[in-house]
Amino acid sequence: MSNTVSCSFDLNLSGKNSGYLKIGDSTNNSGWATFHVPIISISNGNGPTVLVLGGNHGDEYEGQFAAANLANSLSPDMVQGRVIIIPCLSQTASKFGMRLWPDGTNFNRIFPGDENGGVHKKLAYYLSYDLFPIADAVVELHSGGRGHYFVPCSHMVWSSDLKQRQRMIEDMTSFNTSHHLIFPEQPGTDPTTLLPGLVERMGKGLVTTELGGAGVSTFETVQIATDGLRNALLHFKVIKGQALSRVEQGLTPPIFIDMRGSHSYHHATHGGLYENVKGCGDRVEKGDLIGRIHDMDHPDTPAVQILAQQFGMIGVMRGFPRVNIGDVVAVLGPDYASPDDFPA
Ligand SMILES: [Zn+2]
Repeated sequence: MSNTVSCSFDLNLSGKNSGYLKIGDSTNNSGWATFHVPIISISNGNGPTVLVLGGNHGDEYEGQFAAANLANSLSPDMVQGRVIIIPCLSQTASKFGMRLWPDGTNFNRIFPGDENGGVHKKLAYYLSYDLFPIADAVVELHSGGRGHYFVPCSHMVWSSDLKQRQRMIEDMTSFNTSHHLIFPEQPGTDPTTLLPGLVERMGKGLVTTELGGAGVSTFETVQIATDGLRNALLHFKVIKGQALSRVEQGLTPPIFIDMRGSHSYHHATHGGLYENVKGCGDRVEKGDLIGRIHDMDHPDTPAVQILAQQFGMIGVMRGFPRVNIGDVVAVLGPDYASPDDFPA
């Protein structure tokens, strides 16, 4: 249990309650301060607890809109159990339009947190030791931020445990996006330092998303986030009603893109200005031109070509065009009608 973060109301109260997580803080301008993070709980009777989280990365606004809209629209009579909503975790980053906190901290790399660390680490600790343990499932809403644009999707990390994998697929597909992306574990990263990685290892239900990005939230992407969030809450049986698949809703069947291959990630080979030549959802063959890097100091020289390293469908393209060598400019992989068709 955290000793440095508290909720301004009792999360066990029934009905709709809102307030703040109050995090001990001390700044140059104000000692003994508390950093406030808005939190809403909607509770009615017995049932599961589902945690809805937006704004892990500050410049990913689609999920923040969907979580805020849910906080506005959900009433206790619609709930069977408890929905706890934190529309924006990385408040300071969001207010500055940044992915990271002002000190450069990536909130999605500091779990399980530190109750004696900075505000972000205290918040991560509170999530890890106070909120995740009382949750049956977590819905975490990301998008591409300024740097990338994802085909709006929910996604997961492939598990070698068949039973766990099947449950993760069911949770992922409940978000009802047209595409689902399957990733390997992130190389060089302890998975439990990631919010969803920790939640998954705690055995909780989990939905994670990437709902567009490139620094803009459109009506369409926010609608995808809103609709998906509602169906995921139905899937976890925390709101009243019946979850429906895409097909049951008369939509096209989902597409599953396998990003596990070593040639999925495409990196900038030079610094410059990256031009997307292909877009999300496009299928490419190995060797196809997918982008160009322009040297804007020497625009008369030929642009550097970025070629597809394998065949497949583009799931992620570049957002903000300025790139340094080593930046990811595209991620693609073969697409399937079902994860059951994936190679082992
Ligand atoms: Zn993110």
